[in-house]
Amino acid sequence: MTDRDTIAAIATAAGPGGVGIVRLSGPLSLGIGERLCARALAPRHATFARFQDAFGTAIDDGIALYFAAPASYTGEDVVELQAHGSPAVLHALVDRCCALGARRARPGEFSERAFLEGKLDLAQAEAVADLIAASDARAARAARRALEGAFSRRVEAIAQALLRARVHVEAAIDFADEPIETLGGPQLRADLDAAAQALDALLRDAEQGRRLRDGLHAVIVGPPNAGKSSLLNALAGRDRAIVTEVAGTTRDLLQEAVRIDGVEVTLVDTAGLRVGGDAIEREGMRRARAELERADLAIVVVDARAPAEGLAMAAAAAASARAQLWLLNKADLLTAGAAPPDAPGIPAGAIAVSALTGQGLDALHARLGMLACSDAGDPEGAFTARARHVAALQAAAGELDQARGLLVHESLDLAAEALRHAHESLGAITGRVRADDLLGHIFASFCIGK
Ligand code: GDP
Repeated sequence: MTDRDTIAAIATAAGPGGVGIVRLSGPLSLGIGERLCARALAPRHATFARFQDAFGTAIDDGIALYFAAPASYTGEDVVELQAHGSPAVLHALVDRCCALGARRARPGEFSERAFLEGKLDLAQAEAVADLIAASDARAARAARRALEGAFSRRVEAIAQALLRARVHVEAAIDFADEPIETLGGPQLRADLDAAAQALDALLRDAEQGRRLRDGLHAVIVGPPNAGKSSLLNALAGRDRAIVTEVAGTTRDLLQEAVRIDGVEVTLVDTAGLRVGGDAIEREGMRRARAELERADLAIVVVDARAPAEGLAMAAAAAASARAQLWLLNKADLLTAGAAPPDAPGIPAGAIAVSALTGQGLDALHARLGMLACSDAGDPEGAFTARARHVAALQAAAGELDQARGLLVHESLDLAAEALRHAHESLGAITGRVRADDLLGHIFASFCIGK
């Protein structure tokens, strides 16, 4: 099966009173486990044993579990030793395993082996890390679905359709004298249209999955003194940003994570946008604009009493974010019950709020919650995804679009090339087509013992 060595690591280090687990994987696992326990281990049996050091002295009493290859997490022989959770005991067990021929595992090496043995594809292996890191039950459920293959299966189905199309186009190249219409062109186009639709739908779900994993990235933007920092403080529930009447106080980006309806929202306060300012302020404005380009949401804050002030600059900067939410702040300073003055350029749906009195903040919370998991149309089917997956799906969608255009013009060679790129982009998600540096990068972000 494999000429791999045997690795050992603390897989779970529970606190005082809890159970800690040392995990072994590789061809020597059984031999090492049986030496340590001084007794035979049967596959899939829990064996109570006294774990012993080189001199036969007890390290701890516990349970040993043996999973014979290939029916194990990694696909290799695996032994798990459950002991008392003290770090001293667990380290002594790992030391003993290493003295008996194992070596310490690198972070993520168990999942990497599971991937290399074909037990998990790459997106599923990443879901293991996401499940471990999940900060709430919903993210954990979504990671679990990705681990079960909910995401990978959809990627694979589209990849299969692209593979069929590639075969078709390559064959048509070999029959260069025939027009593609006589070679099943209409069917090919229909198949590619269906693949493009499936890809678009998957991209939307993966973007939502990425937000479930990473949270919503919202950037607060607007003219100086509109109340951006006050708003950050109001949403964060504490004095995170310095609030003054002096315009240009916030010169750098200030970040705060808040939870809204169970979804993490990273709020970023930015330097107020205005013409002029000193060199530091101008650098702050440049950073604000750069941050908006990466943002899921621009929260545009203007003064409710004079909304037109600085509006054009804020609107231009906010246009680069994926979505916008407009706030008319300082609503407490309007004459009681009066609507904010109209200003061309303020989109419908802007919310009147007061960072000072809290007026309108409930409505703001509700809107943020909706945006954070909006497209969650079916949150029960949601799966976690990473920025890497979203980028790969976008690249595949772009190449597929290009291929469809090229086929209309019968540019078969170029279409074949675009289809190959699209197919490879999808392959990089599940690791079916892979670059080794990509693998190293992904597994290095795992915990040791997983
Ligand atoms: P920024 O420059 O946009 O970050 O604005 P700040 O948050 O620093 O606020 C500028 C000034 O407006 C400060 O004096 C705040 O106390 C005041 N301010 C902010 N929000 C409100 C509000 O909702 N109502 C009132 N009355 N004053 C506010």
